[in-house]
Amino acid sequence: MPDAEGLTQSFRRLIAAHGPISLLQYMGEANARYYASRDPLGSAGDFVTAPEISQMFGEMVGLWLADIWIRAGRPEPVRYVELGPGRGTLARDALRAAQKAGLKPEVHFVEASPALRAVQQAAFPDAQWHDDLSGVMPGAPILLIANEFFDALPVRQLVATDEGWRERMVATAEAPEGEGVRFIPVAGQKPMDSAVPEPMRGAAAGTILETCPGAAAVVQDVAHLLGESGGAALFIDYGYDRPQTGSTLQAVCAHRKTDPFVDPGEADLTALVDFATMRAVAQEAGARWLGTATQGDWLNVLGIQQRAAVLANAAPHKAEEVHAALRRLTDVEEMGRLFKVMGLAGRDWPDGAGLIVS
Ligand code: SAH
Repeated sequence: MPDAEGLTQSFRRLIAAHGPISLLQYMGEANARYYASRDPLGSAGDFVTAPEISQMFGEMVGLWLADIWIRAGRPEPVRYVELGPGRGTLARDALRAAQKAGLKPEVHFVEASPALRAVQQAAFPDAQWHDDLSGVMPGAPILLIANEFFDALPVRQLVATDEGWRERMVATAEAPEGEGVRFIPVAGQKPMDSAVPEPMRGAAAGTILETCPGAAAVVQDVAHLLGESGGAALFIDYGYDRPQTGSTLQAVCAHRKTDPFVDPGEADLTALVDFATMRAVAQEAGARWLGTATQGDWLNVLGIQQRAAVLANAAPHKAEEVHAALRRLTDVEEMGRLFKVMGLAGRDWPDGAGLIVS
């Protein structure tokens, strides 16, 4: 596989030959390259996710899944499905907690990255891997979880200009001698007004509308599986649950924000997740929306404070570490408010613990 230099060069050739590429393509190819070749998680990597902060996170997910499964009448067989499992840490903690409640599901992972599949395989030799959800056949009910998966899927942006709405594209910029290639966002040529909802058509120049077609497609697939096989799904990510405008694209490398338009394939490109649209897509596709909560509220309702107290008592020399992790996961200034938890279920499945329907 070509390296990041190769991706910069191939984008440059493509743009020279055919003109600017869409931001959707730029982000999609950059992230495919980024994840394919490395394990980006942890303090030595580029970013840290909730399951990598503390075992308590995965345990709360496992208890949520076990609780809804028990109240659904303990159907067997049942399948655990995780989208983008990273290092497999969340699955390990969740399934350990679930097992204590009697839940021992088959394990299915949807993972695109060969590098991360290899890490997951070491922890779960008996799991089944799929490139996308189409590999998970209808059958036994599913208990599905996706943590920080949707934010990595590419977004499409439309921008209002004085000439009307245009797609946001990526072009090459003249870089001073010796500084290499730079990419810049530009407005495309083709009128896109018909892709913009009626009330937004006359928005001020510069307004940006961001959508994530890949997220909508995955949510639709999850809703169809829930309809055919029954089960429940939890989506956890940083995002917003009221419609908003503006670009939320960002790049993170070595725990720092960097320029998304420099060195594609070398930094993790993310966008905030639009939970309102995901809810609408899921309901349209026939799933039950169980509610959306902030991560802090959800973890507190599920009992993370009590779990932290137990862990701190059991290992007093680690008490400070446990409380620091608890703060990072739940505090409104940290992950507690920006991160949201949304639940879905099949028609005859019960409500989910800790979720708010409003
Ligand atoms: N859920 C893990 C990892 C988050 S990183 C955690 O919380 O720690 C994002 C994960 O999604 C990685 O495993 C990455 O390889 C995977 N991923 C990103 N885009 C994907 C895609 N289009 N299809 C399948 N997996 C993808």
